[in-house]
Amino acid sequence: PEAITIQELANRMAERAVDVIKLLMKQGQMLKINDVIDADTAELIASEMGHTVKRVSESDVEEGLFSAADADDALESRPPVVTIMGHVDHGKTSLLDALRRSNVVQGEAGGITQHIGAYQVEQGGHKITFIDTPGHAAFTQMRARGAKATDIVILVVAADDGVMPQTKEAIAHAKAAGVPIIVAINKIDKPSADPSRVRTDLLREDIVVESMGGDVIDVEVSALKRLNLDKLLEMILLQSEVLELKANPSRTAEGIVIEAQLDKGRGPVATVLVQKGTLKVGDILVAGSEWGRVRAMLDENGQQVKEAPPSKPVEVLGFNGTPAAGDMVAVVENEARAREIVDYRQRQKRDKASVLASGARGSLEQMMN
Ligand code: GDP
Ligand code: MG
Repeated sequence: PEAITIQELANRMAERAVDVIKLLMKQGQMLKINDVIDADTAELIASEMGHTVKRVSESDVEEGLFSAADADDALESRPPVVTIMGHVDHGKTSLLDALRRSNVVQGEAGGITQHIGAYQVEQGGHKITFIDTPGHAAFTQMRARGAKATDIVILVVAADDGVMPQTKEAIAHAKAAGVPIIVAINKIDKPSADPSRVRTDLLREDIVVESMGGDVIDVEVSALKRLNLDKLLEMILLQSEVLELKANPSRTAEGIVIEAQLDKGRGPVATVLVQKGTLKVGDILVAGSEWGRVRAMLDENGQQVKEAPPSKPVEVLGFNGTPAAGDMVAVVENEARAREIVDYRQRQKRDKASVLASGARGSLEQMMN
């Protein structure tokens, strides 16, 4: 960080904060224990107190955590990851449920499905991964962290309502992220459905569907009556073929946390979408400022899996703390490395928080003057 509080600097040198304050005072700076000094001043103080200064930069600690691109011949095609977006009440949840019920990949024992934040369906022998957190919040949150969790956006537009404010928002998000859109014109079972109006509405948003001479795929569906769901799945596979989605399954895993919570019985549970490599039971991983050793992995059917290849979402048990949705996940070589990274990140977090806190105090004082 470019700034540090006096307390934190003293802690790291194992010195008393009061001695740091005295030194600063000698240099004409009257500061208190929670005040922030810049890195150059901190370095000066540290060396005056007889400490060797090593500025740890992100590049040192995080070096090689997310590795470089894989060689072309190591890449294999992977299932597409799909997010459903659209205006409220246009049928996002209904569509997710309908697709899930029709086609969830059955486990050995099959049957009981559970909510794990993401699931895979199978269509003609090909898998498709759906992120089961409809809503723009999750999408933007992840994008804000520089994470890309989605290959394709399904834009749900109700045929009896047309393009609405959140439809436009979704379009803006997808465009900003460079993610292709497939339009699902939903509720075509309704007598008041007017799919062609949806298409002309979309034209105004620069979404030109194929039947109007553009290249955006659109499918008329009914989540309620389960109409054309297979066709929608086929179109997703078609789009993903065009995208040539690939990943190297034979390397240490990287991915993203879709959601996470503290479970009373099982401890921290995180749904991880594997994006590269294969995640295995026993792997040591870091996610944001938490780490853990994979104790067990479960799929959406509650079945234990030993390995999770690219695009596979799994519930991961074994984290020491609860990571946050949107955190990037990386497997590391050993516990020591995991601790080093997590310590560094937690310190970064604390530094940022104290800088923010002291900044807030400063402005409050100014306001009182
Ligand atoms: P969301 O807010 O986008 O998740 O929308 P929901 O899935 O909660 O659906 C909103 C309402 O529209 C519910 O009452 C659904 O039953 C209804 N709905 C969803 N899909 C269809 C459909 O294909 N046809 C009809 N007639 N109603 C639907
Ligand atoms: Mg919903």
